[in-house]
Amino acid sequence: MLSLEDAVELTLSSVTELEPEKVKLREALRRFSAQTLHAKVSLPGFDNSAMDGFAVVSTDLSKASESNPVTLKCSGIIPAGRCSDETVRPGHCMRIFTGSPVPIGADAVVMQEYCRINQEDGTVSCMDSVRPWENIRMQGEDVRSGDQVIIKGQRINTRAIGLLAATGHYAIEVGREPKVALVATGSELVEAPQELAPGQIYDSNRTMLAALLKSVNGSPKIYPIIRDELNATCKALEAAFKENDIVITSGGVSVGDHDHVKPAIEQLGGSINAWKVAIKPGKPFVLGQVNGRTLLGLPGNPASALVTYQLLVRPTLLKMQGATDCQPAKRVGVLAEEFTNKGDRRHFVRVSIDAQGIISSAGGQRSHMLGSLAKANALLDIPPHARLAKSNQAEVIMFED
Ligand code: AMP
Ligand code: MG
Repeated sequence: MLSLEDAVELTLSSVTELEPEKVKLREALRRFSAQTLHAKVSLPGFDNSAMDGFAVVSTDLSKASESNPVTLKCSGIIPAGRCSDETVRPGHCMRIFTGSPVPIGADAVVMQEYCRINQEDGTVSCMDSVRPWENIRMQGEDVRSGDQVIIKGQRINTRAIGLLAATGHYAIEVGREPKVALVATGSELVEAPQELAPGQIYDSNRTMLAALLKSVNGSPKIYPIIRDELNATCKALEAAFKENDIVITSGGVSVGDHDHVKPAIEQLGGSINAWKVAIKPGKPFVLGQVNGRTLLGLPGNPASALVTYQLLVRPTLLKMQGATDCQPAKRVGVLAEEFTNKGDRRHFVRVSIDAQGIISSAGGQRSHMLGSLAKANALLDIPPHARLAKSNQAEVIMFED
C-alpha cells in the first residue's frame, strides 16, 4: 500500500500544465497567473493631494496657527483628473481636492478644515502650520512602474485583481481550466427525480464532485451513470478520455467481481500506476493512464470520494493550471473532544471548525455515511494508532466552498 505522500507525488507527476489562455481581468478571479506581471504605471502615478484643502508653499505657513492665521492669495482650482500649468508662488495657494495633482511650486497641502475663505477678496486664511510634503502622496511611494505585482503560478484573488487593475492590466494569461470527465459506475445508481426501485440508491458523487470542481476552476463534463459491465465501462472511459483533459471516476475500484475500472484501463491499453493508499476513508484510490491522459479512480463511498478528491484530485487539477501552491489551506484549532485512530492507516475525520477555532466531529465517520457531510468544513488527519486528547491544538485541512 502506498503512503499518501507517494500517492500524491505519483499523481501530480502524471499530469503536465495545460497551455495558458488570455482572459479579461474581470474573469480572472481564482485562476492562476501564467506569467510574472509588472506594474505598467507607478502608484501613485503623480504627486497628488491626500486631502481636500489648499496647495501651498510650506514655508509660508511654518508659523501659522489659530491665533496667528496666515492669509494667502488663491490663484486657482485643481479638480481631480486635471493638471494645472500654473506655479504656486510664495504668498499664494490653490484650491485642491483628494487625488488632484499637486501644482508646481507647492510642497504641502493644508486641510480645508484649517482654512477660512474670505468671500470679499477670495483670499484664504490658514490656521495651521504644515511641514514640507505634508498631505501629499508621492509618485511611486506605493508601487513603482516595473515592480512585480504578481508571480507566475500565484492564485488571483480579489485583492490581486484590484492591484492588477490599478497598474494597468486588463487581460492576463492564466492556466486553462481543465476539462474534467465525471464518470460514476454502479448498477445500483439512479439519478433523481427518478423513482428508486428496491436496491437502488441516488448517485451523489457526480453532483458533489462537479460542485467541488468549481472552486478549483475545473470544467466538469458529467457522463451518464455506467452499469457494472466491462464493455460499458470501456466505452464510457474511451469517450471520457477523448473529450477531456483528465478523467475522474467514482466506484468500481475495489476487489469485487463488479469492479471494472482497472480492467477497463488495461483493456484500453493504459496502465495502472498506483492502487491503494494508506488512508481511511479512500484506500482503493486508483491512478491510471491511457494515451498520456490521467484517470483518477475514486472509491464509490461518498466520504471516500470526498477525501480522495481533497487529498489527491484537487492538487492535481491545480498543478494542471500551473499553480505554485497546490495544497489546501490549513487552520489550527483546539479539539473539543478526544479523537482516536486504532487502525494502521491515517484517518481523515470529517470535522467542523467554528469561527473560534473549536474543532468537533461532524458526526458518523464510516465511509458510507453522508449524514455528517453538510456540517463538515474540514478534515482532521489522525496518524495511525494515535490518540489526540481533548483541548489539544490540532491542524485541520479546510474545504473551500
Ligand atoms: P464501490 O466503490 O463501487 O464498491 O461502491 C462503494 C459504495 O459506494 C457502495 O455502497 C455504492 O453503492 C456506493 N456508491 C458508489 N457510487 C456512488 C455514487 N456515485 N453515489 C453514491 N454512492 C455511491
Ligand atoms: Mg460499485
